[in-house]
Amino acid sequence: MPSVVVMSSGGLKSAVAAAVSAAAEGIYLLVDHGAPSAARGWAALERLCRGTGGWRCVRWTVGPAPSREAGRAGVGGSESGGLRPETDLGAVSGSRGLIPAMLGLGVHLATKIGADRVITGISQVADEGALGAPFGSGRPDRRREFVHAWQCMIETALPRGTAVRIEAPLIDLRAAEIVRLGLRRKIAFQNTWSCEQGGESPCQKCESCRVRAAAFREAAAADPLAARPAVARA
Ligand SMILES: [Zn+2]
Repeated sequence: MPSVVVMSSGGLKSAVAAAVSAAAEGIYLLVDHGAPSAARGWAALERLCRGTGGWRCVRWTVGPAPSREAGRAGVGGSESGGLRPETDLGAVSGSRGLIPAMLGLGVHLATKIGADRVITGISQVADEGALGAPFGSGRPDRRREFVHAWQCMIETALPRGTAVRIEAPLIDLRAAEIVRLGLRRKIAFQNTWSCEQGGESPCQKCESCRVRAAAFREAAAADPLAARPAVARA
């Protein structure tokens, strides 16, 4: 039985976090909220799972259901001030504000399958460090305080005796340290996908691509995905 749920978009950090979890069986959960990279991330998870016997991946699609009234009324049939899913939500980039909801889905999945851990590959120093930005300029939902708050919320929300723990094993690791850890764990980095776009190969321009490139550079290692982009194809 899977003992862990690993939140993932198919990227490098979650693959390392899964390895660090030391779980023989687990589930990668990709919450598909319509990001351009969703299909690439999903293909990456399928490749990662093919290489690890006890791991499976689940894709959970979220978002407003298309409304027959869409474009005229809004979500929920509101006559004014509603969002039109096809346009307004499509313009929102990244996962800003979605991380708590995603973790909630992870906790729900964990309770359904009897897993006692939900693992996230977030780091409160990786991205800022790789981009040379000052600490604290990144997103609050990558902070230790956020993980702690979520743990408190779970303990408040779940029935007594339902133990689910949120773990963020990479929380204090810089991006290069995560790469080095992954190399020691023999992570198949060519099977991951970090780019925020859904192109044939990583764009090398988005923030995630720049963080990844800086991490491999600082770790004095070659990124197999950058060297052989065709490997990324599904
Ligand atoms: Zn990119």
